[in-house]
Amino acid sequence: MSIQIYVDGKFYYKDEAKVSVFDHGFLYGDGVFEGTRSYNGRIFQFEEHIDRLYDSAKVIAMEIPISKDEMKQAHIETLLRNNLRDAYIRTVVSRGVGDLGLDPRKCPRPSIIIIADTITLYPAELYEHGLKVITVPTRRNLSEAVNPMIKSLNYLNNIMAKIEANLAGVPEAIMLNQEGYIAECTGDNIFIVKDNVIVTPFTSFGALRGITRKVVMSLAEKMGVSVKEGMLTRYDVFTADECFLTGTAAEVIPVVEVDGRRIGEGVPGPITRRLKKDFHDYAETSGTPIE
Ligand code: PMP
Repeated sequence: MSIQIYVDGKFYYKDEAKVSVFDHGFLYGDGVFEGTRSYNGRIFQFEEHIDRLYDSAKVIAMEIPISKDEMKQAHIETLLRNNLRDAYIRTVVSRGVGDLGLDPRKCPRPSIIIIADTITLYPAELYEHGLKVITVPTRRNLSEAVNPMIKSLNYLNNIMAKIEANLAGVPEAIMLNQEGYIAECTGDNIFIVKDNVIVTPFTSFGALRGITRKVVMSLAEKMGVSVKEGMLTRYDVFTADECFLTGTAAEVIPVVEVDGRRIGEGVPGPITRRLKKDFHDYAETSGTPIE
């Protein structure tokens, strides 16, 4: 049966769920989104995702017309109606319907869409053996222009980088900021391990404040491995002992080759493997139950 999608307080089957061609999300990429997961009937890091959604909206000066509690309830109802326990949830809040001009004052009410569906992951063998990735020429947006910390509907920067990865035949791309420091990937944060210390770029270097990133940092601390934010160059990645990516969809996934350089032994390292397992155990048990 077709999935049911939340659109502005009502539920529609997939074929009937529609937005206006005058919606500024469609016309200008003017809006924000979130990607959340549920594991085993529990929404993972629910508060954090809802908070980030409202923070993204605040930065683009858009007031979400329902409260955080109502937003949470709408997420739970979307999962229950679709009978989904292990799901990927895409939440979109666009500026809403306006005219053909840019002015957001012409959009009286933001539109809210919640889609819950099953999740498609990278193939299992990539979790086992690791990814080969490249760095791409497309740089991360300047923070002073469209700040990468906003999870905005304007993902063209990331899509350009993704096209470059596709052309190179690899599943992900590492993006650098304007100064040439490592920022993040098109849909994931990046970490390296060097001499038993885990390092990830400062988010102010052009990365999203990843929710998986934060969970992984605290799991690493619990494991007794020190974690820090830092300034990373391609040199640091090439010479790392281990490298891995984190994200809601990807979870924790090892990287074994970057720009043709083998990372460490060219197989997922022990810290990455342990974090992958600890993350999974934590995700299965820690979320907010939907009933
Ligand atoms: N960076 C970018 C650009 C992303 O789109 C995502 C996925 N939302 C991430 C990092 C990972 O963030 P999270 O762990 O919160 O999903």
